[in-house]
Amino acid sequence: MNIATQAVQIGLEWDTRTGAVTVPIYQTATFRHPGLGQSTGYDYSRSGNPTRQALEDGMARLDNAARGFAYSSGMAAITNLLLLFRAGDHLVVTEDLYGGTCRLFDSIFTRYGLSFSYVDTTDTQAVRAAVRPSTKAVFVETLTNPLLKFADLATISTVCKDNNLLLIADNTFLTPYLLRPLDLGADIAVYSATKYLAGHNDTVAGLVTVKEPALAEQVYFHQNSVGAVLGPQDSWLTIRGIKTLGIRLDRQQKNAAVIAEWLAAHPRIKKVFYPGLESHPDHALMKRESRGFGAMIAFEVDKHELVEQILLKTNLISFAESLGGVESLITFPEVQTHADIPPDLRARLGINDVLLRLSVGIEDCNDLIEDLRQALES
Ligand SMILES: *Cc1c(COP(=O)(O)O)cnc(C)c1O
Repeated sequence: MNIATQAVQIGLEWDTRTGAVTVPIYQTATFRHPGLGQSTGYDYSRSGNPTRQALEDGMARLDNAARGFAYSSGMAAITNLLLLFRAGDHLVVTEDLYGGTCRLFDSIFTRYGLSFSYVDTTDTQAVRAAVRPSTKAVFVETLTNPLLKFADLATISTVCKDNNLLLIADNTFLTPYLLRPLDLGADIAVYSATKYLAGHNDTVAGLVTVKEPALAEQVYFHQNSVGAVLGPQDSWLTIRGIKTLGIRLDRQQKNAAVIAEWLAAHPRIKKVFYPGLESHPDHALMKRESRGFGAMIAFEVDKHELVEQILLKTNLISFAESLGGVESLITFPEVQTHADIPPDLRARLGINDVLLRLSVGIEDCNDLIEDLRQALES
């Protein structure tokens, strides 16, 4: 079955008693026991809640996983995964990483004895070279933020197999609709569901999918023990968002392709980073491995003053952090999403004072271009 169809079906047959088409919001903390030593399958909502489970099961199906897990945010999901490791363990991670993930690794988990090496994970040799005897995992973003580099999961997974390492893929920018990390050799996929999956800039949520049942059991132990679970209301909103994932992303990608071409031809734009452009270094690889190029665009303007002008003068496109929702958003990574990356690393990566990041929404494409044009040319 096509994944767009699978996405629409989430929760559809959950309530057999009434036949409700959408999964009910089980707004309850606890569940009555039918008898001593008996359970309905639900005892307490941290351990399991039917609305959350409909989301977790649905997500597992979308990713071909043994199990799915829903958390109160993407960061809570990543934190839960780091609990699989112990003091002394080392991880090889994408250098062009979401700022919040970088902060979690460097400012918090180093205090608990984990260490991290930042490498360009599009360079498989660099990944291999960074592996040490204490390395336990490779953590990559399938499409990086904000410069949109594409990781070759199939090749990296062979490095992981050779060295007995877990491969964890943050697939927030692509979603299972465009790429299924577990099919390409990853053990675990993680998502900020706040972005494309929930998709309406209205919910903060995180999701994890795990390929093997034994590893999934460990992740469940941590989810239940630590408790940063997604509540029933937000689970329901995330399910509702996922139902339209296919049509939203189709439209967003179509818009993004046109806007990227338009930006690339504009005299005040120095560089455009969009993997759908043939000039992008990962274009050919991504065309082979992914069902699409996503809807995030980064671009450099010719002068820093133009950054503020664009952020203030775009009307339709909101100046706001986050991405992936139906509304188009624009942000300035250097001082916003990536402020927590050390300045020297930021400079080396090309996150500079002329770089803007655009999350393309589902509006009419001509309206978006007109908004950018008037902001650039006024
Ligand atoms: C936003 C984001 C996160 C963090 O998710 P939250 O839901 O904001 O906690 C992690 N990884 C990537 C790639 C993101 O874009």
